[in-house]
Amino acid sequence: MFDYHVHSDCSVDCDEPMAATCRAAIAAGVTEIAFTDHVDFEPADESTGYYDAERYFAQLDQVRAEFCGRLTILAGAEVDFNTRRAHQAETFLDKHAFDFVIGSVHFYLPSDGREAEMVYPSIFANRASDEVYTAYLDQVREAAATGWFDTIGHMDFPKRYAPGTHRDYDPYRYRESFEAVFQELIRSGTAFEINTSGLRKVGLAGLPGPAVVRWYAEAGGTRITTGSDSHEACTIGSGIPTTLTMLGLCGIEKVLSFRNRVATPVSITDLLTPNVPGSGVHETA
Ligand SMILES: [Zn+2]
Ligand SMILES: [Zn+2]
Repeated sequence: MFDYHVHSDCSVDCDEPMAATCRAAIAAGVTEIAFTDHVDFEPADESTGYYDAERYFAQLDQVRAEFCGRLTILAGAEVDFNTRRAHQAETFLDKHAFDFVIGSVHFYLPSDGREAEMVYPSIFANRASDEVYTAYLDQVREAAATGWFDTIGHMDFPKRYAPGTHRDYDPYRYRESFEAVFQELIRSGTAFEINTSGLRKVGLAGLPGPAVVRWYAEAGGTRITTGSDSHEACTIGSGIPTTLTMLGLCGIEKVLSFRNRVATPVSITDLLTPNVPGSGVHETA
């Protein structure tokens, strides 16, 4: 199985060295991993200015040498996107060669032009949840439309911080927004990820959950990636087998594997049946 959303100590909010994560990945049965450290541009974000490409690629070279033949390790990034900072994301991507890039929206842009606010519990304090979700999905649609990203991260991220329990979140309320996102994803050939971090939180589900995946499949979408959004080695690969089963039930037959920004669909059945020929285990890159 593939864990394509993993942070290392090259991210401001993670202390885990890459080698510890690689060892945990092998133990968990993960065959391909992408280190997707945060690349941020919003001044309000503590991560802005922290990312150091030279350090990242030097550490990546070390683990690739150490785990050669045992684990496929992709060069990745989780690039923050919003329409006000889009040119910075574009410039960054022009400069660096990755295997796989996630475009993630982390900020809420108030419609009155005020400063962007990190999506966090506090943004729900003085406004309707509908406003947050609609504005968020609008930015996701813009990210999908650029075609700059291989996949879109945690598509319904605000639910991670919304007040109440997961029962209070009803994706049907935003179906129109999701359909608009799917249209851009399919047009631009961009995938979206199932971010399994929600499965590690009581009362939450994967981001997004099965209803959204079904709509996407019904709209003709087929491009999905899987990632745990791990910030510690102990959560590598967590929730991915469950997610693969969920995808199959929703009508998705394959997940994507990447090399040099080029996708190869791999059968979910093969991934859930390890040690058979064609199980999706590629040679180590
Ligand atoms: Zn993120
Ligand atoms: Zn992340």
